[in-house]
Amino acid sequence: MSRIAYVNGRYLPHSAAAVHIEDRGFQFADAVYEVCEIRDGALVDPTLHFERLERSLRELAIAVPTSRSAMLVVMRRVAALNRVHDGSLYIQVSRGQARRDHVFPSPAVPPTVVMTAKPVARAKGEALAEQGIKVITVPENRWSRVDIKSVSLLPNCLAKQAAKEAGAREAWFVDANGCVTEGGSTNAWIVTRDGVLVTRPAEYGILRGITRTVTLKVAAKLGLKVEERAFSVEEAKHAREAFVTAATTLVMPVVAVDDAPIGNGAPGTTALALRHAFHDSTEMVPVHTAARHLWPRSHAG
Ligand code: PLP
Repeated sequence: MSRIAYVNGRYLPHSAAAVHIEDRGFQFADAVYEVCEIRDGALVDPTLHFERLERSLRELAIAVPTSRSAMLVVMRRVAALNRVHDGSLYIQVSRGQARRDHVFPSPAVPPTVVMTAKPVARAKGEALAEQGIKVITVPENRWSRVDIKSVSLLPNCLAKQAAKEAGAREAWFVDANGCVTEGGSTNAWIVTRDGVLVTRPAEYGILRGITRTVTLKVAAKLGLKVEERAFSVEEAKHAREAFVTAATTLVMPVVAVDDAPIGNGAPGTTALALRHAFHDSTEMVPVHTAARHLWPRSHAG
């Protein structure tokens, strides 16, 4: 089955899906994006993703392309056409296509909207979570507006490639004070020896992850103490637990930072408890309402 993408109003096989060579997303990374989890045939937390997408667009003065309800119709259709029961949905909105010039097109052009969806085996993520991941640390070298979810991800790509080459799954950016900002594609957390969850405040130094927001809710429900403050690499290395959060990894235990084992070197119980309770606190919008029987049994759960 060929994968189907949505591009500016059309549903096309990937081989035929394209944006213009003068699209500003391609030319200048003048675009924002969202990645939404799909689980059990449902979109996870679309409202939080809409809120963040609209904020990113507002911060960059890119027009909101369409209403939330119209966007949701496309999201569900892209997920359904690709038969994604568990996986992720990618949305990109660029400022649009215009003759190459750094300044914004005037008059404004319509934004470009692209969506794709891909299945991801849930068992793979669960197996990884049972094992935990290693992270490396790299100097923070991104611009100061990482709170905007822009597609300008070159430092993140370089950091994650460095992690891969070091046998790790994620790279934590470290600021000039020796404190962790966030991962290349995840938010960073520790659990102190006293059992307090610590994660950096979501002001301007990090992206306000949707998974981070929900994890804070889950932590409150579980009666865990949370401090939103910066933590250093040294503090992380002496923590009881560490973990990362993202829509693609969910709550993922970290078992080593720069080869220093965290806690006893195994996934922490707090991280795993948060992971297991996570979807009790999410909004789930089914991709299909009346056609669940279409999913082959092998894709269930
Ligand atoms: N931080 C960065 C830099 C990211 O790229 C991501 C996800 O792509 C996150 C954090 C986690 O965000 P979310 O939980 O919304 O997936």
